[in-house]
Amino acid sequence: MAKYIFVTGGVTSSLGKGIIAASLAKLLQARGFRVTIQKFDPYINIDPGTLNPYEHGECYVTEDGAETDLDLGHYERFLNIFTSQANNVTTGRIYQTVINKEREGAYLGKTVQVVPHITNEIKRRMMELGTTGEYDIVITEIGGTIGDIESLPFVEAIRQLQWELPEEDTVVIHLTYIPYLKAAKELKTKPTQHSVRMLSQEGVSPDIIVCRTEKPLTPELKRKIALFCNVKQEAVIEATDQSTIYEVPLAMLREKLDLTCLKKMNMADYPEPELSKWRTFLDKLKYPKTVVRIGLIGKYLELQDAYKSILEAFVHAGAVNECQVQIVNVHSEYITDENVEEKLAGLEGLLVAPGFGLRGIEGKITAVKYARENGLPFFGICLGMQMAAIEFARNVLGLKEANSTEMDENASEPVIALMEEQKEVTEKGGTMRLGSYACSVKPGSLAHTIYGAENITERHRHRWEFNNKYLDAFENAGMVASGKNPDSGLVEVIELPTHPFFIGVQYHPELKSTVENPQPIFVHFVKAAMAYSSVNPQDRKVELAKI
Ligand code: GLN
Repeated sequence: MAKYIFVTGGVTSSLGKGIIAASLAKLLQARGFRVTIQKFDPYINIDPGTLNPYEHGECYVTEDGAETDLDLGHYERFLNIFTSQANNVTTGRIYQTVINKEREGAYLGKTVQVVPHITNEIKRRMMELGTTGEYDIVITEIGGTIGDIESLPFVEAIRQLQWELPEEDTVVIHLTYIPYLKAAKELKTKPTQHSVRMLSQEGVSPDIIVCRTEKPLTPELKRKIALFCNVKQEAVIEATDQSTIYEVPLAMLREKLDLTCLKKMNMADYPEPELSKWRTFLDKLKYPKTVVRIGLIGKYLELQDAYKSILEAFVHAGAVNECQVQIVNVHSEYITDENVEEKLAGLEGLLVAPGFGLRGIEGKITAVKYARENGLPFFGICLGMQMAAIEFARNVLGLKEANSTEMDENASEPVIALMEEQKEVTEKGGTMRLGSYACSVKPGSLAHTIYGAENITERHRHRWEFNNKYLDAFENAGMVASGKNPDSGLVEVIELPTHPFFIGVQYHPELKSTVENPQPIFVHFVKAAMAYSSVNPQDRKVELAKI
């Protein structure tokens, strides 16, 4: 039987519940427990796949092709484990299951209600991973803020589980905010008291209060919070801002968050946490020896969460290279032939980001051309790879009309086209090419050097593909398809062997980068940027192989 830890949030959103939950999971894992972590979101969408990145940040894709909340990315990056569809549940999915069962007649003439039918389905899913026998501890993070109408059924489910399960099988952690009032020079606990009272009114008493705060909490303040929130003083945990999210597990270790949980769960027999790899990573991250500047060419740049996994993959890749990767955001919509040199000045690498739709694509193509012609290390992901193919077709193969049928349905040179299976699809949610697919890597290619393997798997999220009708023309002109799907022959990786570092991938390698296993393309891309920065600017231009 697994134990269950629930993490709720109060006072305000954006307190970093996902990071606190992932940090706790990391500490418990480092003590030898088998831990998994899941996110329950109160919105009605079945999954975040249909949400605009401005609404919800990045949509994170798991091995099994689930489109999930970006917090699952944190879980995987911290824990170095794979999550799955079961790790992300939304209100929409709960209702869909219950309504489907109602249509099947499974409720035998009963009135179907929020309590008990919806709450039972929530409880079933909260306990699902815990009953597989694979985990000692399941951490469940509840999205949203306590007091929201929409999170009520989730809180009710926790209340029932707290009552149904043995006392030592559940822990409820409430994450709150302690604002600092500059004028009064004081930290204020009232919002926390109110938030805990609201949670108690909904029937759940938290065991641990984690307080986000800009200033350290004094022992008196901790005592006050403990008294008014009805928890032991050691169960008031201070969570001050850290220089990086990867510092948070160590901050939580100092505050004994993991030990307080273990104590509540009557798990006395625990070893000390083994965090040596984590600490080595942190040292390298905090004390880099060099710096590179990498341009991120995208269109959702106002919201950094839209590219979360890419940014984190650079953190991991930078640390192994002992190099600080400075990301310079370049809005693709504003790049033109005239200003490209100025916009990309001072960069040592260019990453063209994934994306959907027409906006900003011409700027991406212009940026790729600049990188290709100037020997600037280039890395294109998904749409970025597709733009690299279009750029090559237009400017090297002379196919001026080359385009993706996503941008121009009637393109006369559809270098990027819709897969046959996708032509039949009419529904938008969950219908892309999603999840992990195999890829065969060409021996002797850059991709082969990078992965050190001929058979790899990476995760996908797209509808359009490289059109194999053009493959011979591309390869004759020097653009090599160095990775292909072994079953369908779809092109997954393209590269230019005459360029110092030019690679485009149809998949999303950023999704599998973790602290312990930095993604190899990112690692080599950072290396290439470091090499580029050490080359004399006059020597940077490269000539393409003779066509
Ligand atoms: N819009 C492109 C497609 O669907 C690329 C998607 C992406 O970059 N994730 O194929």
